[in-house]
Amino acid sequence: MEQERLRAIPAVESLAALAAGQEELQGCPRELLVAAAREETSQLRQRLLAGSQEEVSPPQLALRLLERLRRWRRPGLRRVVNATGIVLHTNLGRAPLGERAAAAVAAVARGYANLEYDLEEGRRGSRYSHVQQRLCRLLGAEDALVVNNNAAAVLLALTALAAGREVVVSRGELVEVGGSFRIPDVMAQSGAQLVEVGATNKTHLRDYTRAISPATALLFKAHTSNYRLVGFVSQPPVEELAVLAHERGLWLLEDLGSGTLLPLGGACHEPTVRQRLEAGVDLVCFSGDKLLGGGQAGILAGRKACLAPLKQHPLLRALRVDKFSLAALEGTLEAYEWGEADDEVPVRRMLLRPETQLGREARELAARLGFLQAAGWLVEAVPLAGQAGGGSLPGVDLPGWGVALTPRGLSCARLERLLRLREVPVLARIQEERLLLDVRCLLAGDAEEVVRALGAVGGEA
Ligand SMILES: *Cc1c(COP(=O)(O)O)cnc(C)c1O
Repeated sequence: MEQERLRAIPAVESLAALAAGQEELQGCPRELLVAAAREETSQLRQRLLAGSQEEVSPPQLALRLLERLRRWRRPGLRRVVNATGIVLHTNLGRAPLGERAAAAVAAVARGYANLEYDLEEGRRGSRYSHVQQRLCRLLGAEDALVVNNNAAAVLLALTALAAGREVVVSRGELVEVGGSFRIPDVMAQSGAQLVEVGATNKTHLRDYTRAISPATALLFKAHTSNYRLVGFVSQPPVEELAVLAHERGLWLLEDLGSGTLLPLGGACHEPTVRQRLEAGVDLVCFSGDKLLGGGQAGILAGRKACLAPLKQHPLLRALRVDKFSLAALEGTLEAYEWGEADDEVPVRRMLLRPETQLGREARELAARLGFLQAAGWLVEAVPLAGQAGGGSLPGVDLPGWGVALTPRGLSCARLERLLRLREVPVLARIQEERLLLDVRCLLAGDAEEVVRALGAVGGEA
């Protein structure tokens, strides 16, 4: 029987020819059809050899081949609906861009741009000039530089300023950011020698003082952006550390991680980037797509003399920022400069959304999902704690709202999966046998997408 079924599998070429007759596959390159047919028949053969009892039907195989090609055609990277309540979800691409920033990206994407052309002088210019002055004005810095991401910024700064010399860091700040980016490892990669001081919970100014030697290049601080030390803990004030560094003729660098340009209010006591520079830090670096709310980028800002070696370093070319990120950053910074960030930068808007407004939206969404209630589901607007995410504001819960669903006829896990596998995936979380749809991060059109998705999925239950 098995032999018979195996023999009934059509040849790759004839399956491809059969599939090519379908309307949707008119114009599909033959190589693509053949490649899909080869995968289809080889997987069928494997299933049969593994004992599958399915019948071999060429028309059905041709249909499967069509579905396979549809999957191949669909972009792997696509828009999703973030109903997790985590604003800077690293797995979901961190910050969504505002209108101005997205328009700026689209404008340089579709055409040519003066990326490295000085329009005033009519000759070659620098890609770093476009946002440099804006950053200096916004941050109160002497100079600024933008690279591919903040990990690149840290690597470039340490390499250019401290390779072959010593860098003093508190044991309380030997951060791992994720994706194997650890301060000690980056330090090793840069060629700088890490000198750890203090204890995990406490580091004193005298610990830094004792560690300074003729080989010291700089003092380094890393913002503990994805965890918090609480209890019997202390670090010397950054102002005192700056005085110490400058007395000894050293630079003080700080990796701020998130780096916010404006205060966040509420329970968040993140210092702003400007405050860090005013406190005496010579060079700060931070991400463009965390609390700032722009595209992926690493921003370095501070003293001109401190940035000069970075601008000269050959590594800069390998870590350089592209035109899309620059456009996204410039559009975002413009909103900050004109005092419009809280309305226009989605990350700011989402972080600052008043609880009453979120409650109203959750109740509206619950009402629109009334058809599920009619099918026996439990649908309820509930208070939920959102998070900044992306390794920002650890331990800070953002009071918010969402809709809790208790499905009927299917499990929560299955519901979550069905929503996740849609053409426009809806990502939610499960807690205590309920599916939670947090409304904080829903963008224009997302609520409709959620209703549509649950209409389809609820119908399948
Ligand atoms: C997030 C983070 C980084 C890495 O930034 P990317 O922009 O993701 O490269 C580095 N240091 C700290 C402290 C961070 O929080």
